[in-house]
Amino acid sequence: MRLSRYFLPVLKEDPKEAQIVSHRLMLRAGMIKQQTAGIYSWLPLGFRVLRRIEQIVHEEQQRAGHIPLLMPTLQSADLWRESGRYDDYGEEMLRIRDRHKRDLLYGPTNEEVITDIFRSHVNSYKDLPLTLYHIQWKFRDEIRPRFGVMRGREFLMKDGYNFDLTKDDALHAYNRHLVSYLRTYERMGLQAIPMRADGGPIGGDYTHEFLVLAETGESEVFYDSQITDLSFGDRQIDYDDKAQCQAVLEEFTSRYARTDETHDAALFEQIPENRRRSARGIEVGQIFYFGTKYSEPMGATVVGPDGARVPVHMGSHGIGVSRLLGAIIEASHDDKGIIWPEGVTPFHAGIVNLKQGDSATDSACEAIYAELKSRGLDPLYDDRDERAGAKFATMDLIGLPWRITVGPRGLANNKVELTSRRSGDSIEMSPSEAVERLL
Ligand code: ATP
Ligand code: MG
Ligand code: MG
Ligand code: MG
Repeated sequence: MRLSRYFLPVLKEDPKEAQIVSHRLMLRAGMIKQQTAGIYSWLPLGFRVLRRIEQIVHEEQQRAGHIPLLMPTLQSADLWRESGRYDDYGEEMLRIRDRHKRDLLYGPTNEEVITDIFRSHVNSYKDLPLTLYHIQWKFRDEIRPRFGVMRGREFLMKDGYNFDLTKDDALHAYNRHLVSYLRTYERMGLQAIPMRADGGPIGGDYTHEFLVLAETGESEVFYDSQITDLSFGDRQIDYDDKAQCQAVLEEFTSRYARTDETHDAALFEQIPENRRRSARGIEVGQIFYFGTKYSEPMGATVVGPDGARVPVHMGSHGIGVSRLLGAIIEASHDDKGIIWPEGVTPFHAGIVNLKQGDSATDSACEAIYAELKSRGLDPLYDDRDERAGAKFATMDLIGLPWRITVGPRGLANNKVELTSRRSGDSIEMSPSEAVERLL
């Protein structure tokens, strides 16, 4: 992409409405525009990152054997009357009436719709296990939408639902989700710690929230510092292997890590004092096993091996796709702007032309630009007629991991400069070496 032909409405001034750094930087970098409270347009740069995050989520869900589909944003209120949640859900649900006076709602989550799909088409235990998921916009009429995309009213979520014959199988699905979430967040350059969360009225131990530690997080968390040494890394896992998935769950959940809702001061104090941490965190996902809570009232049953019909065991598993942009920026920025992890960056590298209009510099930039594209990378070429300082400031603000700076002085010795956004280190090398380094 050539910046001269792109749409990147960066702001020079700090927007007053932004209270936290990720919101401020997303506005300044021209990634989002608020349309009304908690509802955003995704401008081209923000949209690119959103799509990259979605792509990682899709890849990791499908790696775990989960199947994508797409459910609508608008749902029939009748389904929610069947599950008993229509009245319980309260003011967060946006209720709509159509011209025929039928009650609809903008889905805040999809347990009812997916259970309806399941009961219409699945009859036998032989079709299990089954996990279906989608990435779709949700609406929750949050009382206090704030912090930009972090707590929106309309937001993008991946939500997945498992259907299993037995509790044991459903817990395997739970573990599969835990493993796939660890991989997902790590690919985005994030450490998201699974923490024991509150099962709500259903109770039980089977829910974990994934939290990214950040001062601006809305959750209060307590954990054993040893947990931050864990990483999933690039180990191979067989998602069908129950024991393997269970072992990962045990490894990542055996140390104390809880949100304030489940915090147990007496247990916490059993950890050596120098390892006790209390901090703030951003909830970027949650997994849940809830048994037959929806399958029973909604009649989602299968014929079991003995010929009898039984309600299926279910769980639901969510990732806050749009919130993740905010969480990643909270975790990765400096005073000049965003620092994108390579896994989610909107462009792989920026090319800065220090002397637009100088024929040698222009053609060197064009050659690097063409070469990177032909090798499958997606560079952003700043070909505007701007001062070098302004170009650097834009690149720093939008946070591409690499910058290639091309000017007449360096080119006289066949040199360009390759700069890492994260370390700030610059190295001189030939244009072709710079291209090689980025591949
Ligand atoms: P929170 O505690 O922040 O209100 P939640 O527990 O109500 O979130 P879930 O129902 O667990 O949310 O939804 C799954 C994920 O969707 C959350 O872990 C979070 O990352 C994301 N999410 C929830 N509400 C919002 C929102 N208002 N804006 C953006 N993302 C959200
Ligand atoms: Mg909520
Ligand atoms: Mg929550
Ligand atoms: Mg939650």
